[in-house]
Amino acid sequence: KAHTDAVETLNGRINAYITVTSDLALEAAKKADAQLVSGDAPALTGIPLGIKDLFCTNGVRTTAASKIIGNFVPPYESTVTAKLLENGAIFLGKTNLDEFAMGSANLTSAFGGVENPWHRKGDPSVMVPGGSSGGSAAAVAAHIAMGATGTDTGGSIRQPAAYCGIVGLKPTYGRCSRWGTIAFASSLDQAGPMTRTVEDAAIMLTAMAGHDPKDSTCADIAVPDYRAACGRSLKGLRVGIPAEYRAPGMSEEILAVWQKGIDLLREAGCEIVDVSLPHTKYGLATYYIIAPAECSSNLARYDGVRFGERAEGATSLDDLYEKTRHNGFGEEVRRRILMGTYVLSAGYYDAYYLKAQKVRTLIQRDFTHAFEKVDVLLTPTAPTAAFARDEKPEDPVQMYLNDIFTVPASMAGQPAMSVPVALDSKGLPLGLQLIGKHFDEETIIAVGSALE
Ligand code: GLN
Repeated sequence: KAHTDAVETLNGRINAYITVTSDLALEAAKKADAQLVSGDAPALTGIPLGIKDLFCTNGVRTTAASKIIGNFVPPYESTVTAKLLENGAIFLGKTNLDEFAMGSANLTSAFGGVENPWHRKGDPSVMVPGGSSGGSAAAVAAHIAMGATGTDTGGSIRQPAAYCGIVGLKPTYGRCSRWGTIAFASSLDQAGPMTRTVEDAAIMLTAMAGHDPKDSTCADIAVPDYRAACGRSLKGLRVGIPAEYRAPGMSEEILAVWQKGIDLLREAGCEIVDVSLPHTKYGLATYYIIAPAECSSNLARYDGVRFGERAEGATSLDDLYEKTRHNGFGEEVRRRILMGTYVLSAGYYDAYYLKAQKVRTLIQRDFTHAFEKVDVLLTPTAPTAAFARDEKPEDPVQMYLNDIFTVPASMAGQPAMSVPVALDSKGLPLGLQLIGKHFDEETIIAVGSALE
């Protein structure tokens, strides 16, 4: 009740939820009370969560923050949300995001922008929460959810977590099922928890992860109890500091928080090792070829015929497609579809898409080589703190630069987590990123719990 009341009070301003399901939540809470009394209560019994509006929820509207499926009510539950429900969680509603998870500031949602609950000291400007899981991050930071689900394709869990001062964990690609999660770029999309502490993230991930025969890329590897990794001794653990993440022009404040993280881990008994990931500089360009290519293919299904919105007054089939897709998709989504169809077109496939796939392999090898020397990597999560809504760069490529530190781990499928480590001089949170070996979320959880 405290949570549903807080949602009613704060959501009008923060706009973290697209759909609020207070009645369903309170009904579920009654059942949870009964379960707690009977002693038959799984780990998340009664825990109120926000669910990114990219996860299909049975009987509850699921929009992907897009007009084109703005009234879609799925007749089924995604695997990840089904697992959370089985574990007793209660859903407060569906959280806002960038349309189809494309963006870094939550400014592309068809349901309006999300407000970051944090402000610069003495400055009333509205700050962006990051993106695309900005609604989830803001809800957790504003205490209108105890935790939330996010999805991360190139940084969408980690960057908003950093901007909102919370923990965001992108598991290894294949750790959580993608079934029932609306697709953006299928070789990169991965669900994960967004919480106020590393321990909460560990508990939520244990519930969300695991093999699912309905997603052929979901790994059949046993899920450990991640909570047991919290507070584990870090003595002798090798922490890699990749030289290439010292980007030119990086702010002194980001460098200072990175150094703080290094010092904390050294004190905890870790060995700090300099490493090199030489292809990092190609990460962003490669991501912005591969992700749009896959998005153009995935979003081809929204044609106004099979489901979703259909434009009125079309004079031919082509006209119907054109009008539906023009009206239904926002500017950023249309831009991505155009980039994607361009790089996949017959004349340019080899020059762009095929080349990007080869560079992706080189980026993956960088991580393989680095993890021969170290157990985990430590980097900043984002090149800046949150920025004000009216400071949004006009040039879309400037916006893409936000993802510079998060996309390499996505391209290589590594697990990665953002942990809030300090406030900058203006009072805004700054996060550090831990990148682990494939399916070794436990190490990033262990190290993360020493950093927060
Ligand atoms: N900001 C990145 C993009 O716009 C990442 C989005 C994501 O991870 N879903 O593509």
